[in-house]
Amino acid sequence: MPTEEHVALECPYCRGEIYRPLKWFKQAYFTCPACDGGLTADQFTAIVGDLEQAFEETIDEMMQDIPGCGCNCGGNKTTD
Ligand SMILES: [Zn+2]
Repeated sequence: MPTEEHVALECPYCRGEIYRPLKWFKQAYFTCPACDGGLTADQFTAIVGDLEQAFEETIDEMMQDIPGCGCNCGGNKTTD
């Protein structure tokens, strides 16, 4: 059961990708791991809200409609 949804969001300062659990972006204050720029939850509220809604919809779909085998089972999962 996944409790942490990792997301990659763009840093508004260095345009670097910040890959962290969704809740990490809800902190009152945090810094970009790439450029050390100061960030706040306010800067990510909109995108985090969208992502949370998307996750919920995805879970709802999975609960309602379990597909036969449209997945990549048996194949090697690429992590690129
Ligand atoms: Zn940055």
